Amino acid sequence: MTIAERYSDVDDEYEGAAVLVTADRRIDVHVHLSGHFEPIDGRYHWAGRVAPHPDVAALARGGRRAVTVQIGQSPEAPARIAEVDPWGGVRLTGVSRPPWEGPDIGGPGREPAASTSDIAIVGAGFAGLGAAIQLKRAGYHDLVIVEQATEIGGTWRDNSYPGCACDVPSHVYSYSFALNPDWTNTFSGQAEIWDYLRRCAQREGLGPHLRLGCRFEGARWDETEQRWRITTSAGEHVARVLILATGPLSVPSVPDIPGLESFAGTVVHSARWRHDHDLTGRRVAVVGTGASAIQIVPSIQPLVAHLSLFQRTPAWIMPKRTRPITRFERALFRHVPGAQRVVRIGAYWLRELQAVGFLHPAVNRFGQRIALAHLRRQVPDPRLREKLTPTYVMGCKRILLSNDYLPAVAQSNVELVTEPIREVRPDGVVTADGQLHEVDTIILSTGFHVTDPPIFGVVTGRDNRTLADAWTPTMRAHRGTMVAGFPNLFVLLGPNTGLGHTSVVLMVESQLRHVRNVLDHADRRGVEALEPTPEAQRRWTELVDRRMRGTVWVSGGCASWYLDATGRNSTLWPGYATGFRLRLRRLRPQELTVPQRRRTVVPA
Ligand SMILES: Cc1cc2nc3c(=O)[nH]c(=O)nc-3n(C[C@H](O)[C@H](O)[C@H](O)COP(=O)(O)OP(=O)(O)OC[C@H]3O[C@@H](n4cnc5c(N)ncnc54)[C@H](O)[C@@H]3O)c2cc1C
Repeated sequence: MTIAERYSDVDDEYEGAAVLVTADRRIDVHVHLSGHFEPIDGRYHWAGRVAPHPDVAALARGGRRAVTVQIGQSPEAPARIAEVDPWGGVRLTGVSRPPWEGPDIGGPGREPAASTSDIAIVGAGFAGLGAAIQLKRAGYHDLVIVEQATEIGGTWRDNSYPGCACDVPSHVYSYSFALNPDWTNTFSGQAEIWDYLRRCAQREGLGPHLRLGCRFEGARWDETEQRWRITTSAGEHVARVLILATGPLSVPSVPDIPGLESFAGTVVHSARWRHDHDLTGRRVAVVGTGASAIQIVPSIQPLVAHLSLFQRTPAWIMPKRTRPITRFERALFRHVPGAQRVVRIGAYWLRELQAVGFLHPAVNRFGQRIALAHLRRQVPDPRLREKLTPTYVMGCKRILLSNDYLPAVAQSNVELVTEPIREVRPDGVVTADGQLHEVDTIILSTGFHVTDPPIFGVVTGRDNRTLADAWTPTMRAHRGTMVAGFPNLFVLLGPNTGLGHTSVVLMVESQLRHVRNVLDHADRRGVEALEPTPEAQRRWTELVDRRMRGTVWVSGGCASWYLDATGRNSTLWPGYATGFRLRLRRLRPQELTVPQRRRTVVPA
């Protein structure tokens, strides 16, 4: 039964008594609500009015907008209260099951039927959208995309900080099956990339497949039914195939700095930018000097009164060969068949060449010379230069590209702080030497939970084992995509599929070919499910670890987010993107096995 069918016999309107529940009280009110099932996001939207009530009006005026609503014996439904109207009533909205839906539908004894699809994809970023497009094109139309946000776009929706742009040329940082002749810059900005993703989704008709504002809360492999039983914020969903495309860089990491919660000013994470917080004339702390910080600092430095930049480890920074793409070039890409493909191939191989330095660190000494010359040119002060000079081999941490970061750091309103942070106080940041850096805004440019996102703990495969169990102490996946013990589960940008030198979209596309190969193979064999053999997964992991030896990531003398708690690099692919693509091109059926179906025991 689909969600639409489930709600088809529910009354669309309710007028009567209800209770608004906040953290500390229950308010009896009179409401008039109506709703409808919205096919665009596959959810039930409802709204209406609460009759004038002084306590509710006070909540709305006081900015306490999140409440839950309970009608009769129905379970509480999350809701938001909006503005107070001239007569003292307030508007109430929600996206959930209808709050007036009686317990006879949702209550004990009669579990609401789950929606179903052949394939469920979690996440609507580059990977999830790419998966949906490719699978639809291959004839797999019965799929849903579960996305917790109310808009698609992943990384490029969430990272809207000033200066946000890709650091791999746009011609390569896009789908090979949807080239974009309209890029306006060789390294496009966030808005343009986000817009590209939205246009791809629209062109490919993904709208009806999207379940926006729907959070994936967990999944369990049902060994009897050979299906994934998926729990989402919108209810149960059952699918044969589960594709996790939740992104390696999507859960912001907030550092455990003592006193951070006591800060009296505003704390912003780079991936959750506060556009309502004007930085003009403020005293700002930027914590971290990685890929996001080097884009943020030059964008805000001219605005702020003072910027304290807290650096733990300096990054190797290379010049960024960025330029606008001319109208002539764009016309060429649009009208001359193959023109953009040729430019893309050129950019692809130039990037592939750069992998040499990661695999053979001695080669990166040449790159270091270029970076040091760049630093000398841009930072005249030798003391500041010294603080900005890395002591590890280039490539061990992500190599950053920028033409304006170093000049911004050299400005008089910027202080580069290399003392470790000891604590945060209401009025600023205190470093290990006891100095208080007074600020009113803290920008955390502190990255993401890469090797330990919470989602690993809620995906349960055969034998009651979660991905977190299987990946303790380190993440391993066959061909970076499938995991032994987790039938029909595909993890996009899974273990050892990241790249330091080129676009990860190339890796996603290789994985998608593998997904299609596996599904087609299951179809041909007439089996419901497949998973990798433990032996095949072990051999793949050995290959990865063997190739990792001697690379700059494990020998370059730095600690980076590429390494997990065991010190193993479980995030990056130790080679050329081409090598990964070739390895995933063809399926080796002997590496897959059919999971045993558990028989249901019917009591006598
Ligand atoms: C600022 C920034 C710049 C980058 N620049 C580059 C670059 O130049 N080149 C490059 O190759 N890579 C770059 N990356 C890496 C980037 O993350 C990947 O290129 C790519 O965007 C990842 O796509 P994805 O679909 O796997 O993940 P994401 O884009 O992160 O999408 C994951 C989606 O899953 C959703 N989701 C997560 N959990 C749940 C849940 N429980 N329920 C429902 N939905 C959920 C999220 O809301 C999100 O929409 C950059 C990353 C950042 C942060």
